Amino acid sequence: MNPSLPQPAHDIAPAAATKWRVLLADDEPVQRMLTGRLLTRAGFEVVMAEDGQQALQLMQKETFFLLLTDWEMPNLDGVGLCRAVRAMKLPYYTYTILLTSRDSVEHVVMGLQAGADDYLTKPIMEPELLARLNTGKRLVELERSLRDAMEENRRLSIIDALTGVFNRRYLMDQLSKELERSARYHHPFSLMLCDIDHFKRINDNYGHQAGDETLVQFAQILRGCLRETDWIARYGGEEFVIVLPETTLASAAQVAERCRATLAKEPLKIATQALPITASFGVSGWPDSVPLDSSAAKLIAIADAGVYASKEGGRNRVTIQQALE
Ligand code: GH3
Ligand code: MG
Ligand code: MG
Ligand code: MG
Repeated sequence: MNPSLPQPAHDIAPAAATKWRVLLADDEPVQRMLTGRLLTRAGFEVVMAEDGQQALQLMQKETFFLLLTDWEMPNLDGVGLCRAVRAMKLPYYTYTILLTSRDSVEHVVMGLQAGADDYLTKPIMEPELLARLNTGKRLVELERSLRDAMEENRRLSIIDALTGVFNRRYLMDQLSKELERSARYHHPFSLMLCDIDHFKRINDNYGHQAGDETLVQFAQILRGCLRETDWIARYGGEEFVIVLPETTLASAAQVAERCRATLAKEPLKIATQALPITASFGVSGWPDSVPLDSSAAKLIAIADAGVYASKEGGRNRVTIQQALE
């Protein structure tokens, strides 16, 4: 994978084999101990806090999917804790149950409005508490699978399925943003475009599948020639754009030459065949920082003209051209 690919969302999965952890906040030591014991017996791992503030501090350091909190506590009460937890905008969901000796409708409404998912009236009945925690586990799991699905959808929407590099849509989205940022902070920025030479012959002589495999290996070789902050996008069939942030035109030219030479040095191994390939490169960028009002489309157009010149010049070469303002 390209190192700059988006990573999956926060690691929110409690591994199947590990216990579910509950953060239990209660200021009364005896009640805390009794509830804690009950939870431990039921197979939960319990972390205890003596008031809302301590619970909040723990939540800032560790991940808790289940929070069981008393209402009345010094420093920060249960309702305040619920509010604070929701305000943290954690990258995962904490299912929160409020324990209260109050059972008037207004109090229940207040607790739920503060961000609690459920409430239990003291004294706690063991089967009820466990049933409600089970509901919490179900909800946390559901939230996690939705989040994973969304993350996977996002990944699929920006990645080229064949080669695993970014797709054209991501390129067009991201390139302007990165260019703008570089211009604003007066940083250098360069781009290269490359096109495999006589790629059609590979398809014609060895079949479309060999052509596909060539594209995969080609992208891998390019990746191996780049830094972590550089990224690749498939621009078209056998054309790739390499984005080089923080890179002057002169350095980008060196990178392009390294890519070209690496590709030309050793043939690809496609099935049992050794297939020599080369590519033509066009590099565009600025000698130092990016001027304001630079355009991504123009930067690509100049690199594209470079590729064309490299093809005209005999292929397997690099053409460098400074981008305009
Ligand atoms: P040049 O050196 O001038 O670039 O010649 P070329 O043969 O590489 O260029 P041309 O544009 O004539 O051919 C590109 C070929 O790439 C044509 C197209 O069928 C093929 N192609 C495009 N996308 C894919 C793909 O995903 N898989 C495979 N196997 N072939 C593809
Ligand atoms: Mg209390
Ligand atoms: Mg082409
Ligand atoms: Mg080509």
